[in-house]
Amino acid sequence: MDRRNFFQSSALVATGAVTGCALPGVAQQGAKTPFDVPATYIPIVGSDEKFPVRRIYCIGRNYRAHAIEMGSNPDREPPFFFQKPTDAIQYVATGTVADHPYPPLTKNYHYEVELVACLDKGGRNIPVAKALEHVYGYTLGLDMTRRDLQRAMGNEKKPWEIGKSFDHSAPIGAIHKVGQIGHFSQGAIWLKVNGQMKQNANLNQMIWSVAEQISKLSEAFELFPGDIIYSGTPDKVGPVVRGDVIDIHIDKLPGLSIKIV
Ligand code: MN
Repeated sequence: MDRRNFFQSSALVATGAVTGCALPGVAQQGAKTPFDVPATYIPIVGSDEKFPVRRIYCIGRNYRAHAIEMGSNPDREPPFFFQKPTDAIQYVATGTVADHPYPPLTKNYHYEVELVACLDKGGRNIPVAKALEHVYGYTLGLDMTRRDLQRAMGNEKKPWEIGKSFDHSAPIGAIHKVGQIGHFSQGAIWLKVNGQMKQNANLNQMIWSVAEQISKLSEAFELFPGDIIYSGTPDKVGPVVRGDVIDIHIDKLPGLSIKIV
């Protein structure tokens, strides 16, 4: 063994010793970190506890009319999912208008109002009939989108990441526990810009219900407590510019408002 190979072998052994058999994502107990990375939490209505966010899943094209406006055939496509980074969350308190920064690189910044289901139980291959038992609560949120970048990447068969998964791209309200608010199979969902109605639909127009989304997702990923699911947006998505105020509403939930700055 020459000197270079010796060092490569040593490096491999050392790497193995560090990672060992630890599960992915599980830190060595007791090890210090050279710096802190903040965790992401969402307030829970009527509770001193806060909801720790593990992953943000989003379903694409889950309302017929929106699927058609995005160029899909809603009758033929199985559900598909993407993720946003956990720290894309921007919590917005009820009764406030949060400043939301217009992101870099885009000239076509779009809103998407969505119901969000928040899980406190995980699993694989969860049957539809059991899926809602995994939901801790619900809130409403915005799947903010750099539409020009999303489209450009899609046209080039590249990942959507830069169009969907950027900083502050997930404004969200406080979580209401299922025990207090129940589940959501119908009810108005709307979005206004500067007081003018832009999106206006009913949750019963979802192609895949929340239960079906959980079931389908759990075939692709093992779900865990802390996972949240943006359940798709109705049609008539559109652009905002700096100075615009977005108000969103879902029946049974308090509204959420942001101002683009
Ligand atoms: Mn969306």
